[in-house]
Amino acid sequence: MNAPKLRLAFARINQETNALSPVKTTVADFESVHWFKGDELLAMCAPTAMEVPSMFKNAELSGFVQAMQRMPDVELVPLMSAWATPSGPLTRSCFEALCDDLCGRLAGAGQLDGLYLSLHGAMGVDGMDDPEGEIVRRVRATLAEHGQESLPLVVSYDLHGNLTRAVAEGVDALVAYATNPHRDHRRCGARAGRILYDTVLKRARPTTAWRSLPMLLGGGTTLDFWPPLLSIFRRMRKLERRGEVLSASLLTCHPWNKNPETGWSVVVVTDGDQDKAERLADELAEAAWATRHVLPPTFVSAQDAVARAKNARLRRKLGAVVLADASDVVSAGAPGENTELLRVLVEQGQGMLCYVPLRDPALVEELWDAPLGARRCVAIGGKLDPSRTRPLEAEVTVLSKTQAHGVDRALVLGIGTVRACVVEGVALAMRPAFFSTLGLDPWKADVIVVKNFFPFRMFFLPLARLTMYVRTSGVTDFDAAFQLRFAGPVHPKDPIDDWHEADRRRHALPFAPPDSSAREPRAA
Ligand SMILES: [Zn+2]
Repeated sequence: MNAPKLRLAFARINQETNALSPVKTTVADFESVHWFKGDELLAMCAPTAMEVPSMFKNAELSGFVQAMQRMPDVELVPLMSAWATPSGPLTRSCFEALCDDLCGRLAGAGQLDGLYLSLHGAMGVDGMDDPEGEIVRRVRATLAEHGQESLPLVVSYDLHGNLTRAVAEGVDALVAYATNPHRDHRRCGARAGRILYDTVLKRARPTTAWRSLPMLLGGGTTLDFWPPLLSIFRRMRKLERRGEVLSASLLTCHPWNKNPETGWSVVVVTDGDQDKAERLADELAEAAWATRHVLPPTFVSAQDAVARAKNARLRRKLGAVVLADASDVVSAGAPGENTELLRVLVEQGQGMLCYVPLRDPALVEELWDAPLGARRCVAIGGKLDPSRTRPLEAEVTVLSKTQAHGVDRALVLGIGTVRACVVEGVALAMRPAFFSTLGLDPWKADVIVVKNFFPFRMFFLPLARLTMYVRTSGVTDFDAAFQLRFAGPVHPKDPIDDWHEADRRRHALPFAPPDSSAREPRAA
């Protein structure tokens, strides 16, 4: 007779939200990118399938599913998965729809042995400070209604997640990506799966210590393979490889987060050893805190960037000059409609073939029925967040029209040698394929504008001969985050020398200076 199988359920709710963006995220934004359920979701997690269409072939859920399919005694129970492109806060009704789908499917899943939840950690919702904490609370409440309140629950986070007490204390274990730009979604899901599996079988007893630092920026570029964070990531991988911990994570947070308790954090999960978890969490927190004065690089102005691009003749001939609009990074939740680079390229970049992506659904609607070759005077961009950018008035020629997943309807508009790539949906311009989908050959371009911080560098590696980060003005300016509300002083907005007070406040523990012999022991 076969032994009963372990029933392990899995689900995802993922969006990185920029609290400063006025562009709300709705149910339609999830439905147009990724919202799948049940057996269809399970099939999408196969090695050869596309888990998140046009974004990830194999992400966390694939990693989890494929790791668990190697176990002889696991029955996978696919619940639901929803992922939207980064943008402004979710409407309350969107959040409720996501939670209802998750909790409804959880309630209908029957008796389970474990649950894996893939969350982002920097989701924002209108009128809510800690949406992930609320998801965990509702999941626990649903489980309790069905007599499964202590079901093992493992959660994974993006490296930019903001760890809160509700999540740290509401889950059995939390693991996060260990790469920036993120390249280990699948490994992260597999790790979550192994911890869950061992916990269900009582072969492991996940024991967590976490620290939260009052720190928004630091760590230089925050790349995992570059100083100053390289040594911290190496140390964490070594601890995992040697089996000293089940997992060790550094979360560098998403600075444009609405939660007043936002900052970097460290999570260490050991197998039943609270003292070791606390010691390692302190060690890693100190190491992360020590990098706080290495701030991100400063960026050039649009005028300087275009002038340098004009001078880089040979590099343009051999490939392209890539300009990252660092103030309008769509993959960090910006609207993707800033016109500053477009304006400077139109005025000063004529003669260079320039591709400039922009989101402007109203303009796409206005010009969609115009014939190819039509000339029109229009206002481009600057409509979604008029407080930070303004439309560019220009005479354009309609050069092409496309409809594609993610961008929805898209137009290429010619302004001299500049090609404005105007999309109705999200202007997630970080791969050469964004432009080729619109009928533009990236190899022919002199200048390509992207709305992205890091991942584009991998995708543009063969093509980019010179890359510049350009500051225009927008919701992904690092100092724009300083406008948000914080529960206490936060580096580098405020002078602050000691992280322990914020950490203990976030743990809801009384504060005593760290060097005081009277310091209270942490609650286990
Ligand atoms: Zn991230």
